[in-house]
Amino acid sequence: MTDLWPGETRAGFALTFDVDAESAILAVDPRYARRLTTMSHQAYGPKVGVPRILRMLERHGLRSTFFVPGLTADRYPATVEAIVAAGHEIGHHGYSHVQLHRLDEGEERRELERGMSSLERITGTLPTGFRAPWWELNDRTPDLLTEYGLRYDSSMMDDDRPYLLATAHGPLAELPVHWMLDDWEQYAFLPEPNVGTVIESPAKVLDLWTSELDALADEGGMFIVTAHPFLSGRPSRVATLERLVEHASARGDLWMASLAEVAERAHQTIAAGEQRAVPVCTIAEDVYGKR
Ligand code: ZN
Repeated sequence: MTDLWPGETRAGFALTFDVDAESAILAVDPRYARRLTTMSHQAYGPKVGVPRILRMLERHGLRSTFFVPGLTADRYPATVEAIVAAGHEIGHHGYSHVQLHRLDEGEERRELERGMSSLERITGTLPTGFRAPWWELNDRTPDLLTEYGLRYDSSMMDDDRPYLLATAHGPLAELPVHWMLDDWEQYAFLPEPNVGTVIESPAKVLDLWTSELDALADEGGMFIVTAHPFLSGRPSRVATLERLVEHASARGDLWMASLAEVAERAHQTIAAGEQRAVPVCTIAEDVYGKR
């Protein structure tokens, strides 16, 4: 069996960007639409953050993955077109950024379908990757993703290497993430709604992320940063991402790729017998009662 990591590489590295823009706040309460300053904080992502991030990625020839809610795509089609024109991957990030566990099956299907059609209309192709809003999959989602033709998800946290899930409609690659490698916990600050109260030093973030990168890479893992352009698109933070890319490149042993490339490699190299069951947490009635 061919190893997951191609050639001389021994671990994986990906920068990923969730282009939430206003959707993450409107999903909390649509009345925030009338709060101009709050909305402008979110709009900074597609307006200023994404172009700056694209310039940085181009300097290093790095292909990345941008997960875009359908609502963001509909509001900022030129931003999505610029991401595609620069050679990056567009992934599915729901339509309205609502947490999927709040929806019944029909509503969840509608979120998936609306997100797919918005991205297809603007990019001309269907996405192959999915990241759940707030990283909140429910026990129904993996089967729905493969039913809609998606090849991978990047929302779960129970490993640090890619793996395959067995779903009702075939295997789904899972590319795991973690809060430690999410910029939200480092940089998110808004008085209202309270989605975060921290503005950390980029130097501290660089130390946190390079420490995990080196330890994870030494063990053959997949390092995935999740960044939000409305947060990480600010100048000192893009500079920090650039230092991280330089650090990763200097190691010389990392496969630096988009998540779609990593997911396809996982599909090709992980044996069918290694597929895992969807990790539904079954709970015993004699412990918790009938629910
Ligand atoms: Zn998001």
